[in-house]
Amino acid sequence: MTSTMGYGPIFFSKNTKTYQSDQHGWAELLPLRKSRPSLEGHIRVPWVVIGAGVTGLSAARRLAGHHPKQKIVLVDAREVGQGASGRNSGYAVKVSQFPGAFAPEKVNEYRRINRINHAGLTLLRNDVSENQINCSWHEEGFYHVAADEMALRECENHQGYLEALEIPYTLLDQGALTERLGSAHYRRGIHVPEGALIQPAALVRGLADSLPENVNLYENSPALDLSYNKTVSVQFPRGRIVADKVILATNYEAPKLGFQNRYLIGSTLSGSFTRALDEEELTSLGSLRQWGVLSLHGGGATIRLTQDGRICLRNTAEYHGGNLLSDQQLAERQTIHRAAFERRFPQLAHVPFEYAWSGVEGISRNGTNFFGRQRENVFFAGGYNGSGVSRGTAFGAALADFANGGQSELIDDCLRSAPASWIPPRPFLDIGAAYTVRSRFKGVGLDR
Ligand SMILES: Cc1cc2nc3c(=O)[nH]c(=O)nc-3n(C[C@H](O)[C@H](O)[C@H](O)COP(=O)(O)OP(=O)(O)OC[C@H]3O[C@@H](n4cnc5c(N)ncnc54)[C@H](O)[C@@H]3O)c2cc1C
Repeated sequence: MTSTMGYGPIFFSKNTKTYQSDQHGWAELLPLRKSRPSLEGHIRVPWVVIGAGVTGLSAARRLAGHHPKQKIVLVDAREVGQGASGRNSGYAVKVSQFPGAFAPEKVNEYRRINRINHAGLTLLRNDVSENQINCSWHEEGFYHVAADEMALRECENHQGYLEALEIPYTLLDQGALTERLGSAHYRRGIHVPEGALIQPAALVRGLADSLPENVNLYENSPALDLSYNKTVSVQFPRGRIVADKVILATNYEAPKLGFQNRYLIGSTLSGSFTRALDEEELTSLGSLRQWGVLSLHGGGATIRLTQDGRICLRNTAEYHGGNLLSDQQLAERQTIHRAAFERRFPQLAHVPFEYAWSGVEGISRNGTNFFGRQRENVFFAGGYNGSGVSRGTAFGAALADFANGGQSELIDDCLRSAPASWIPPRPFLDIGAAYTVRSRFKGVGLDR
């Protein structure tokens, strides 16, 4: 995730049907969980939801509420928690950050996005509380910080936007940030008290394990192909589902099933966790026991002090064909994580990293999100450009309502997402991707 909770343009990956997974992520910090069985045999249902990240989980829960007497099937190619929803940085945003100077003509757009975020955060908060999901929910907002010149300019921009939208905030100087975060690295920052920190793998596992009884979840069940008649037939390695309607919540992997090809791609991010800090080390981090920092530069580091006392830092993003990083590649990226960590917390230079992880996020070239009908009986939401925890939850619920024939302000807000820009094929793709990665980090300086 970036400080802007949204990425700049990037270009498209090749259309493979592999569903890569690994054990490097937040799930490693949790107790082992027994996954649900994979799909076998032939099933006929009114609804199938493909993809059990925040979007699919939210859609399935909503459909189950609309149709308490019907079976809703939810499938995922991997184990729950292995997609982006279980390996993100854990910021459930309410107030988005928009790069650049405040633009009065965009006020309606800012408000639209923030309404969607708000709806998603509210849904999540309710689900977590009603189902007693233990995901380290901590709702005290985030610190938007700047160390170098470009980010300092963004700090002024962000302040202008918060003022114009009458969103409460506190401006913090270096001393105040040092006192709160235990790092003298940042020259200025803004605390916005809205938004929640979560343990992402614990959240999605909790959401999956508390689904209503009429939702049947199948894990390790990749949908391989969709074919259409009056119904939709979804093929799996050892089975088939025939459904009246399909909700596609497969994020950047939608092109593998024939949707949004050349409009949606995967961007690979990576980060590291320290071991849990001891009491003395925690005390050196100032007065707070948990916080989340977002850089005001789009290429800057996202850093958290987690509830279990670890520093978690993410600061790489790259075009990698929509794939996770190998162990070797992660080890190489970890030198970048390490440098950023020691720059900010020299007093913790002796503290080793215990884990490194990567994750793939769905992005569009023009930073828009995807929502709506794809074919007669197929609906898709996804591609949240680095800010999908709250937004994906809202999009998932709204998509279920929409596919069910509903109408609401939330549906209208989601439908107003701008059309995605076309992404060129290879070799232009590779040139564009390299250029995009370079421009993302332009001027990042000390904020990386
Ligand atoms: C490292 C990282 C950090 C991030 N940090 C943040 C953050 O702090 N805050 C924030 O708001 N956002 C963040 N994001 C973005 C956020 O995680 C995503 O936008 C969000 O999780 C997307 O949710 P989703 O349900 O649409 O997709 P996913 O979580 O990607 O879920 C899609 C699911 O579909 C499944 N699937 C795909 N194809 C098939 C198929 N053919 N058959 C069956 N199943 C299939 C996948 O296995 C996957 O589980 C981050 C992303 C990454 C990678």
